[in-house]
Amino acid sequence: MRVSTAFNRLLAIPGASVTDVVIGERDVEVTLRPTARLLTCPCGKRQPSVYDRRRRRWRHLDLGVKRLWLVNEIRRLNCPNCGVITEAVPWARPGSRFTRDFEDMVLWLAQRSDRTTVSTLMRCAWESVTAIINRGVAELLDKRRLQTLYRIGVDEICYRHPHRYLTIIGDHDTGTVVNIRPGRSEQSLTDFYTAQPDSMLKQIQAVSMDVSKPYIGATRSKVPEAIICFDGFHIMRWINRALDAVFSEAAAGPDKVHMSSAQWRTTRWALRTGENRLTDTKRELVNQIAKQNRRVGRAWALKEQARDLYRYDHQPGVARALLKAWITAAKRCRIPAFVALGKRLAVYFDGILAAIELGISNALAESINAKIRLINARGYGHHTAETLTSMIYLCLGGLQVKLPTRT
Ligand SMILES: [Zn+2]
Repeated sequence: MRVSTAFNRLLAIPGASVTDVVIGERDVEVTLRPTARLLTCPCGKRQPSVYDRRRRRWRHLDLGVKRLWLVNEIRRLNCPNCGVITEAVPWARPGSRFTRDFEDMVLWLAQRSDRTTVSTLMRCAWESVTAIINRGVAELLDKRRLQTLYRIGVDEICYRHPHRYLTIIGDHDTGTVVNIRPGRSEQSLTDFYTAQPDSMLKQIQAVSMDVSKPYIGATRSKVPEAIICFDGFHIMRWINRALDAVFSEAAAGPDKVHMSSAQWRTTRWALRTGENRLTDTKRELVNQIAKQNRRVGRAWALKEQARDLYRYDHQPGVARALLKAWITAAKRCRIPAFVALGKRLAVYFDGILAAIELGISNALAESINAKIRLINARGYGHHTAETLTSMIYLCLGGLQVKLPTRT
């Protein structure tokens, strides 16, 4: 069998056949000839005439330990819509010097591991990884994702200290991020609403958020019909913070509970864990501290009651009564952190109740928070809003990246 025939079968490049193969010390260069006669513009239009041509190399998936390059005389055409432009080739995304297979593998890996792993394994520069992610997101993000929004969640994330924020808009029904805006001001969210057609805005029934004045303002003025809900995730964070404060006090006060710092951390974590998820040893730990310090026991019980509000389906009217009872209990418990919390929840009563009654789950806010922490730890160079935005879309935008080796 001839070498070019063998490579033709081996690589099976869409829309091209192999005419030549050069095997070097580190690289393998495979020359291609496109099978289509007409040139294709990236806009889809086909044309017979060539404007000019030049040699281009695309990096393909490695062949053993050698880098594999596809070489082709790429042509430019004069498109009536786009002007003079480089033709689109079936094996690569427009403008890229990597093949689609190579890029898809980078995208798949970037969804799952850190930047150093991706660039080391794929043997390409960090900057290339960033460019591949941007191109992949632009192509793979579903354009229809904004057409069917009924219940959305809005959250802010800080991507660089101090005071650099993004506003993240998610879809409760799909659990995906549908839009990202710079900043966290009223204008940030207003810009999102304004960019949507009226028919879409009319569909929005509920908007969940942290208790945040800018987002409340933007939502009231742009989608006044929508019910504003305060995310249970954020409310539970307030409560857990208050519980932490009570526990810290118990560990430091005049009749303090003695424990090592390792014990202290374990106990704090056990206190935060939901009662139904406690192991026997952790449960024992919680019981012990609750017995030693009645305030901690009381605060823990209040935390669990609040969790129950979100955990169970309630009969009509029951959630309202339970939330009222919780607020009253908190105000009367004589633990300053919880008295303050009781007052705070009373202020935001309607929005907190709406989230419970509409069954707006914690899943979206929780997954956005957890995933973005992960993305930040992976170090894709998020000093700019653009790179982080692409990574959030890649990991949370519901993108379907197909691994080329998985057929
Ligand atoms: Zn065109």
